Amino acid sequence: MTLRTLEELDVTGKRVLVRVDFNTPMEENGTRVSDDTRIRASLPTIEHLREQGARLILMSHLGRPAGRVQPHLSTEACGARLAELLDCEILHTDDCVGWGARKLASELPEGGVLLLENLRFHAEEKGGEAGFADHLAELGDCYVSDAFGVLHRSHASVYVLPSLFPGKAAVGFLVQKELEQLGVLSDEPKRPYVAVLGGAKVSDKIGVIESLLRTVDTLLIGGAMAYTFLKAQDIPVGDSLIEAPKLWQARQTLEKAAKADVKVLLPTDHVAAPAFDAQDQSKVVTVLEPGMMGLDIGPDTMQRYALELEGASTILWNGPMGVFEKPAFRSGTEGVARAVARSNAFSVVGGGDSAAAIAMFGLGDEISHVSTGGGASLEFLEGRELPGLKALEAT
Ligand code: AMP
Repeated sequence: MTLRTLEELDVTGKRVLVRVDFNTPMEENGTRVSDDTRIRASLPTIEHLREQGARLILMSHLGRPAGRVQPHLSTEACGARLAELLDCEILHTDDCVGWGARKLASELPEGGVLLLENLRFHAEEKGGEAGFADHLAELGDCYVSDAFGVLHRSHASVYVLPSLFPGKAAVGFLVQKELEQLGVLSDEPKRPYVAVLGGAKVSDKIGVIESLLRTVDTLLIGGAMAYTFLKAQDIPVGDSLIEAPKLWQARQTLEKAAKADVKVLLPTDHVAAPAFDAQDQSKVVTVLEPGMMGLDIGPDTMQRYALELEGASTILWNGPMGVFEKPAFRSGTEGVARAVARSNAFSVVGGGDSAAAIAMFGLGDEISHVSTGGGASLEFLEGRELPGLKALEAT
């Protein structure tokens, strides 16, 4: 794949439209960013552009406003955080398109930064509408893609907008770094290569599991996902979350794994409770009886998984091992996070929840690469074409 890099783009004095991913966790009323990881991740690109004398027009989505203006999802608080990080003024628009945005964009000085209002206040963003992309294009002279987390979306600012800048669109440093690091996993990973997958939904991850069977040596499965795989082998799962329509596919996947000589480990003990909010009734069980839900992997499972991770040379981790948001169901995820951090492997952690777990346990420095994009990183590893990259490649 040939993509223009930021250094290959002449940006001095130019108005540069930069698609960033400032979809950050916010405090409830939307007035403060509660985790600025994604904003920090785009700083290298933003700082480089400012140093080159570009005029920056940053654009992002935030949350799910469903095409309507929702004040608690304004990007204004992201701008305030960015202003603190860069120690400079960040201008902000009330609307990402229209007269006001055009005026502010045209008046920006060299090195100046304008952050547009939430792109998803317009339904046309998610709809990938060309007319909306045309209005955004009016604001800039060139385009930089630094929002790795949305490259798998065919949204207007991701998929349509770059095509309006032939010869003048590039990937930012964040996207470049993500592609390089994730590329290590697809191109000749050092062995043993161990992937740990968890989280709630099998349907989100079955595609990547199937393609990982071509590259990994061992697959560790946790989270609610594990119960569909256990049930597929007629192992009792009590009242745990399962996806009945995926049972057949889960069975097939296990058969494919056996043929491909990939070792698949599933939980053999569980932290169970009668309900999500029944933390005080949680207990470790090896058999899930009716009325009990598996809400975390048990201590024996965690030890087995940790052992595999400690012997690995390459690790991919995506998805928590349990309902780690609640202390009673956190140990499995914490144990896996610590084992990934302890190992000497090249380790990649992807997905908002796993990244949040790494941050929660203060392990960020022990991981080779924490990806800013969960869905995008999985689709990349699945070998699927990411619309945002396809659009850039065509420029
Ligand atoms: P996902 O978005 O698919 O990665 O799923 C993340 C969510 O899965 C987290 O919010 C966890 O609380 C949830 N989760 C993990 N394990 C379980 C489980 N055993 N039962 C129910 N939910 C779970």
